[in-house]
Amino acid sequence: MDFDPSWLLIGLPVAFVLGWLASRFDIRQLKLENRQAPKAYFRGLNFLLNEQQDQAIDAFIEAVQNDPDTQELHFALGNLFRRRGEYQRAVRVHEHLLGRGDLSRADRERAQHALAQDFLRAGLLDRAEAALQKLEGTRYENEARLSLLAIYERSREWAQAADVAQKLDESDQASYATRRAHHLCEQATERVAAGELPAAAKLLAHAVELAPQAPRPAIDTANLQLRNGDAVAAFDTLAALSDTAPLALPLYAAALQQAAVAAHREAEALALLQRRYAESPSIDVLEALIALGGAPSATAAADDQQPPAPRDGYIAHLAHQPSLVAASRWLAGEKFEHEQFHPQVQRALDHATRPLMRYRCAACGFEAHQYFWHCPGCQAWDSYPPRRVEEL
Ligand SMILES: [Zn+2]
Repeated sequence: MDFDPSWLLIGLPVAFVLGWLASRFDIRQLKLENRQAPKAYFRGLNFLLNEQQDQAIDAFIEAVQNDPDTQELHFALGNLFRRRGEYQRAVRVHEHLLGRGDLSRADRERAQHALAQDFLRAGLLDRAEAALQKLEGTRYENEARLSLLAIYERSREWAQAADVAQKLDESDQASYATRRAHHLCEQATERVAAGELPAAAKLLAHAVELAPQAPRPAIDTANLQLRNGDAVAAFDTLAALSDTAPLALPLYAAALQQAAVAAHREAEALALLQRRYAESPSIDVLEALIALGGAPSATAAADDQQPPAPRDGYIAHLAHQPSLVAASRWLAGEKFEHEQFHPQVQRALDHATRPLMRYRCAACGFEAHQYFWHCPGCQAWDSYPPRRVEEL
């Protein structure tokens, strides 16, 4: 059969019309699909601009259901709410993300991490703890352990803190030995309070092993030895500590003096305290010296006809430091011309010197009469210099 060219006149327009119709159909379908997701976005944006944030979240949740690739929008939204302090909303966004079955493993970990941050910032420590524990084995593991450690330390759950610090010590580049020793000392303090002295001694022995240079395990050990009536051991522990941690001596000078008296080793203690006082004078070491009946300087007595009274140590101290505390302590034993007014004057001086006898955290400035190894203000460890405010 011959080809009739007149078919071309009909066929070509028909083919063109069919092609055009097919392309129109595809474009319309595509537009319809694409329009559904943006519509939810714009509705959400509209709610957000009208400060109707709950409805905005609902609209965004709808958007994420229509389009699985909108996790970024949710992460951004969740972080925004957390930064604004709207933790409940941030939690809702991140919990919704975690509830999705099609989330990649990386995004799931990220959402879990974000959820833990929400609870932490909201101060919901129990829920933060549970959320952080789920990050074990993920790329957020180290960060989560640090947060868990902070939670356990803040809530004084020392056994848990010790476990986490041990894991960090084993995995991280940084050393947590001193911090772990603190955790053991804290547990030992609790055991002492419960009357379980052998258990406390065991914990302290472990602490000394972990941080042999740190002053606290040795000081706590010596205090426990004194409590157990073993003054000789307590004295030996503190005398050894004065070599490894001489700067912390003001913290344990009083315990050293007590142990020396109980162990009848006053002369040894006096020589040790005089040597350390000459290197670094401090009111606490001076008080221990005076309590032992000694002078700050070993040579002072030899030069004088009459041995100086121990109290004169305060005057000698004033030559080193213009200390109001030392002046007040000296005045307390002096005779006044108007002796009847002495109690009132002394009371005023004691009142004035009390704040000078505090310890101050170098990190946050928190002051307390008690020496803290763990600052109750800023939660830092070893942030208190072992000297009184007046001597800083
Ligand atoms: Zn502090």
